[in-house]
Amino acid sequence: MNDPRRAIPRTDAVLADPRVAGAVAKLGRALVKDVVSAAQERARAGKIAPTEVLDEVLAGLPGGASSLRPVVNATGVVVHTNLGRAPLSAAALEAVVAAGGTTDVEFDLRDGTRARRGRGALTALAAAAPAASAVHVVNNNAAALLLCALALAPGREIVVSRGELVEIGDGFRIPELLASTGARVREVGTTNRTRVTDYAAAVRPETGFVLKVHPSNYRVTGFTAEATVAELAELDVPLVVDIGSGLLSPHPSLPEEPDAATALRDGADLVTASGDKLLGGPQAGLLLGDAALVERLRRHPAARALRVDKLTLAALEATLRGPLPPVRAALEAELDELVRRAGVLCETLRGKGIDAEVAESVAAVGGGGAPGVELASAAVSLPASYAAALRLGDPAVVGRVVRERCLLDLRTVGPQQDELVVEAVRRCG
Ligand SMILES: *Cc1c(COP(=O)(O)O)cnc(C)c1O
Repeated sequence: MNDPRRAIPRTDAVLADPRVAGAVAKLGRALVKDVVSAAQERARAGKIAPTEVLDEVLAGLPGGASSLRPVVNATGVVVHTNLGRAPLSAAALEAVVAAGGTTDVEFDLRDGTRARRGRGALTALAAAAPAASAVHVVNNNAAALLLCALALAPGREIVVSRGELVEIGDGFRIPELLASTGARVREVGTTNRTRVTDYAAAVRPETGFVLKVHPSNYRVTGFTAEATVAELAELDVPLVVDIGSGLLSPHPSLPEEPDAATALRDGADLVTASGDKLLGGPQAGLLLGDAALVERLRRHPAARALRVDKLTLAALEATLRGPLPPVRAALEAELDELVRRAGVLCETLRGKGIDAEVAESVAAVGGGGAPGVELASAAVSLPASYAAALRLGDPAVVGRVVRERCLLDLRTVGPQQDELVVEAVRRCG
């Protein structure tokens, strides 16, 4: 009779609360019921009083139906793979929201007939890469390479330098990806030196194509040699160049980073690249180059399994046509301006009694390209204990711990996020 557990509110009663009912409309019944069950369980275990169940539910309801949390990237790594690589521009985000409903992705509104899927994004890409006579977009760069192997080298050989047998990340390796299609990977040269004559000696009737891969996440220095795109273009087989990062034309701050325009001008038949690295767009694989080869890729049966959805097409088009995406703004930010912002942030934080100092920092492009390039930067330096609290905040803020200090590198924080950062730090204080 006196068992306090009998006072625990029943699920129906909790769901009837108007605030909880509102959450059901937004988040779905199953997710809200899980939160209710967890609170009832805690009451049964005596960890909270039965009268606290409703408050516990309201506090425990997530902000959205996805468990992905927004993160402020204050790591100083511009293209951070674990943080989802390139953040989309406001224009691209808006395009994604619009395309999320029913949309004319494959429909001509003028005459009410079927139209070429994703023509807006493809037209924008073609305009941004005028050296390519045709373009195609797939799920990511790995998919672009897979499609090249499937369509251009079935049962045949792909010739690649031993210095360019790249592991992308999470244990995935480009040579294994290519071999998974049944093509044979023919390695030539050595780790540090491969000449065009090594490729020439390997090319034979069974060759599907020569592949040149940009080592985007490591550097081979010292006694090295590699064949140039122009040299490889002289060989009598198709030349596919994986530039990795997705720079469509040369970038003044990244002189070593390959770009599509230069590779095509130098004679590459096809260029492959990622959409969510230095291009600053959504995850996608760009294929640029010779019209007849692109058409073979487009018509291969596997192309259908690798195609991108309408959200990607919308974001890619808006990235290409719209204002400078955040990745490019981060690369191009002036050091003086970063130092100035760090000064303002630290002064505001010190005004709230927080030990914050301006610190010099060195930012990096990240796994997405330009290995070894150091970008001078400025950071807000806090006691190291802030690092964990900031990571668990909402939004989460991820910095770097260096010599007992938590550094928030401002090169990768957009100026419009400065206030968010101040609020996040203040809440941890
Ligand atoms: C990043 C990268 C890839 C993999 O690209 P995804 O878009 O992640 O599939 C392949 N090749 C190179 C050279 C890269 O830098």
